[in-house]
Amino acid sequence: MALIVQKFGGTSVGTVERIEQVAEKVKKFRDGGDDIVVVVSAMSGETNRLIDLAKQISDQPVPRELDVMVSTGEQVTIALLAMALIKRGVPAVSYTGNQVRILTDSAHTKARILQIDAQRIQRDIKAGRVVVVAGFQGVDEKGNITTLGRGGSDTTGVALAAALKADECQIYTDVDGVYTTDPRVVAKAQRLDKITFEEMLEMASLGSKVLQIRAVEFAGKYSVPLRVLHSFQEGPGTLITLDEEESMEQPIISGIAFNRDEAKLTIRGVPDTPGVAFKILGPISAANVEVDMIVQNVAHDNTTDFTFTVHRNDYNNALQVLQSIANEMGAREVIGDTDIAKVSIVGVGMRSHAGVASRMFEALAKENINIQMISTSEIKVSVVIEEKYLELAVRALHTAFELDAPAVGNTAE
Ligand code: ASP
Ligand code: MG
Repeated sequence: MALIVQKFGGTSVGTVERIEQVAEKVKKFRDGGDDIVVVVSAMSGETNRLIDLAKQISDQPVPRELDVMVSTGEQVTIALLAMALIKRGVPAVSYTGNQVRILTDSAHTKARILQIDAQRIQRDIKAGRVVVVAGFQGVDEKGNITTLGRGGSDTTGVALAAALKADECQIYTDVDGVYTTDPRVVAKAQRLDKITFEEMLEMASLGSKVLQIRAVEFAGKYSVPLRVLHSFQEGPGTLITLDEEESMEQPIISGIAFNRDEAKLTIRGVPDTPGVAFKILGPISAANVEVDMIVQNVAHDNTTDFTFTVHRNDYNNALQVLQSIANEMGAREVIGDTDIAKVSIVGVGMRSHAGVASRMFEALAKENINIQMISTSEIKVSVVIEEKYLELAVRALHTAFELDAPAVGNTAE
């Protein structure tokens, strides 16, 4: 008998019929002898609908009041699911974040969980009840309702699993696991049986949006085994764990992530003197713009070129700041480029294998794709390329690192 926290996302509880299906699923686990705590999101589209309502009143709704409102989405689904369970003879009880007491800080719309009082839930579990908890919401010290940021129900699920020392936190969603890359780009992408927290974080932050990043961080920190599963299809899903077992079959690269959200800025002909990087990036960070990749060239004629990437939403802002820095420093020129994409290979196997980066560069070279920037970390190599080559690059790398699914017999392609 295990204690399992099961989180169901918006599409899984998007209609009354689906909520009934979720109830069936929960019942099955419980009939099998497991203790179950369920966390649900609002019905799909509901949180957006509520935010739109608020925006009709004000462009920038007061965050405290916004939280009071958007937290109602989850309050509806917990009650409906509890009703559906009770109808099936499964004792169940629903709680809001406030009732469980999911204590958060007071950062409305992006609050962080500080503490969870697990006693009430434990009492219910002992009494044989399935506990249904509203995702995404908490309460601050003063009793104000808070929310955890978009997609925050994942974090609620993981935090509850940690507080209850659950055996597993299962995230049910509309995909059947974590893939080697986006199957819409690479038809031969494969579901991974297992991935480490570290790899998942890199994949998630690079744009594979299966799980909220904070939930993965949380799960890693508290060693909560996480499993991503399809809500309505059978299958083992993908287990996200701590251990990096070294097996012969373990591929060096676990996945290929990419994003089109960045833009590149270059300031050319800046003096090659101490403090230059600070002079350039100081004002950029003061303008609240986050910088991702950075490249500074070797000096030539006592001047150097400095290139970095920012989120595309920050591009215009960053360009303006950079232009005024360039004037002050007497730099030659400022160039910007929004038609770029970042592609990354991710894998803990890189730690123990040499030549991974060069294999990546070879695969790109074969496709005649020019690399504009490179950055590496212990388990990741990223390159910036021209956006129009993104899909080609991802496919080439997927093949080069032997991630393609084996061809299935007699499918006429
Ligand atoms: N309902 C919230 C949202 O749409 C939280 C969640 O679904 O995880 O962002
Ligand atoms: Mg979600």
